[in-house]
Amino acid sequence: MTTRIAVCGLAGRMGQRLGHLVLDSEDLELTAASERPGHEWLGRDAGEVLGRGSLGVSLQPAIAAADADVVVAFTTPEATLADAAASAAAGTAMVVGTTGMSGDQLAEFRSAVAPVACVFAPNFSTAMNLLFKLVEEAANVLGDDYDIEVVEAHHRHKVDAPSGSALRLAERAAAGVGRRLEEVAVHGREGETGERTRREIGMHALRLGDLAGDHSVFYGAAGEYLELRHHATSRDAFALGALRAARFAAAAEPGLYDMGDVLGL
Ligand code: NAD
Repeated sequence: MTTRIAVCGLAGRMGQRLGHLVLDSEDLELTAASERPGHEWLGRDAGEVLGRGSLGVSLQPAIAAADADVVVAFTTPEATLADAAASAAAGTAMVVGTTGMSGDQLAEFRSAVAPVACVFAPNFSTAMNLLFKLVEEAANVLGDDYDIEVVEAHHRHKVDAPSGSALRLAERAAAGVGRRLEEVAVHGREGETGERTRREIGMHALRLGDLAGDHSVFYGAAGEYLELRHHATSRDAFALGALRAARFAAAAEPGLYDMGDVLGL
């Protein structure tokens, strides 16, 4: 059975990889694509802009959700809210990887997608989702004697910090020692910070070059430290996971799912 995929923000770094991987797959078909108003690719054929020959699908400023089984969105918070409304109105499932939504935007997003199946995850890589689980287990076993710090590095174009994945890692580590991240997170350090408190979880964001994404969780006590690290070598780690999520969403009942649900973790 073929699953029809709509890619929002096709010209983006993730959008292009999603487009190529849909075209490379045997069970997925690219049936709709969008870009922001004013983008030079608008109105052009989605296959041609990817250098893959004509598909008869032109890029539109609003996603044609009714033409697809699953809308895949890796864009901006504002665009994703519009795409969520369009998907819900058409009864089309969604896969959303956009990060950086505010609390209000998250609430609006969750209520907009309620009528459809939606997989929403800060990181669609399979190995990273395994790491989310391992990080919590490690914190639980090591306990309060170990200081926890999260360090992430991304390409220079990333507009939000810490990354959605770093936040998820820190949340899971905090959960492993019975803490709530919002009560213990310390973002970067500067000046007369005083001695580190035992319960805080430090978070640090590097921005450089073209890194697809590097995340480490450190657990340190007297005499040793442990580093659990994930290194994304290309965006295909996220795009392939998102397409796996799209196959899941196409067959799922309405509801909000996480990548952990897709992977059965
Ligand atoms: P990008 O800037 O390269 O791509 C975003 C694209 O969306 C651009 O082409 C932009 O023109 C387009 N866009 C903006 N407004 C639009 C609109 N109204 N309609 C249609 N298209 C619109 O960014 P990117 O690196 O591809 O990342 C996109 C998002 O995905 C970010 O939030 C990033 O953090 C997130 N991301 C998530 C994961 C994950 O696994 N969850 C992985 C990588 C990136």
